[in-house]
Amino acid sequence: VRAVTVIPGKQGSVALSQMPEPPSEDGRILVQTQVVGICGTDQEIINGDYGEAPPPGDRLIIGHEALGRVAEAPPGTGFAAGDLVVGIVRRPDPVPCPACAAGDWDMCLNGRYTERGIAGRHGYASERYRIHPEYLVAVDPGLGTLGVLLEPVTVIAKAWEHVEKIGRRSTWAPRTVLVTGAGPIGLLAALMSVQRGYDTYVLDLVTEGRKPEMVRWLGGTYVHTGDLSEAAAAADIVIECTGHVQMLLEAARHHVRHRIVCLTGVSAAGAESMVDPGLLNRNMVLNNNVLFGSVNANRRHYELAAAALSQADHDWLAGLITRRVPLSQWADAYSRKPDDIKTVLTFSGETA
Ligand SMILES: [Zn+2]
Repeated sequence: VRAVTVIPGKQGSVALSQMPEPPSEDGRILVQTQVVGICGTDQEIINGDYGEAPPPGDRLIIGHEALGRVAEAPPGTGFAAGDLVVGIVRRPDPVPCPACAAGDWDMCLNGRYTERGIAGRHGYASERYRIHPEYLVAVDPGLGTLGVLLEPVTVIAKAWEHVEKIGRRSTWAPRTVLVTGAGPIGLLAALMSVQRGYDTYVLDLVTEGRKPEMVRWLGGTYVHTGDLSEAAAAADIVIECTGHVQMLLEAARHHVRHRIVCLTGVSAAGAESMVDPGLLNRNMVLNNNVLFGSVNANRRHYELAAAALSQADHDWLAGLITRRVPLSQWADAYSRKPDDIKTVLTFSGETA
């Protein structure tokens, strides 16, 4: 099969490679890849910062956001040829730890999990792959290739689930949500905020173009950096999707009670801090605030995400996919363009 591969840790090793047919031990279901989404993690793997090849080879097939169509599924698997599907990224550690044993592999306690396309298992940027049915999720056929957005939505579905679980610590009446970052994750966070009926603000650097349009189309309010309105600064819930937390921690000057802040973006360590830790402490303690991080997703979050996508305006979702690049021009898909929101790589199996 043709697949996009890297030698992990080796910058410049990304290539379209001829790889062996997916082995039967990968699972009883054979999936024909339709569309693969590209995200920051793929860029990090290509840059050699991240990733691990499955033994014994040295190449890793990348791609962890993928919509496929079932080519072969034995009876009793719950899937049939023709189904639109998305494969889950993480696999529980073989031990397993108490979290993985309960299906909460997104919260793995010992870090010995594997991830398709990232850590120790081949990914989905391959013409075909095999998978066990327990790691496959059905997508609403009405979504067509928009189902490629499912994996990024799972990250946000988990963030929202955890915000709501933390919110149940006490009586609370949240009304306003601030999302920082209008990339794909931020816009999908805003979608799920609007679906919950919250007054939704999205903050980003840009002042014009597709990102502000997408926020307004949702019914949210777009604010650009340096123009954090009182309403946005007073949000009950903040979903941080950029990794730049400075502005957010400064916004802690606003005394918002019971605020829950979820960090989903990842920043580089060593950033110079201008935050007054004493002031941050006072605001956190005296207002019962919570700051927490969230990453990855388990099967439950894939199901929540599938429902959220299915209920969304499909035209709006289509607006998130700013470039579709055929596999033959794969290198172009992995180079970032200024107005990109989500770039996807299309395989020959694509039908819509
Ligand atoms: Zn575990």
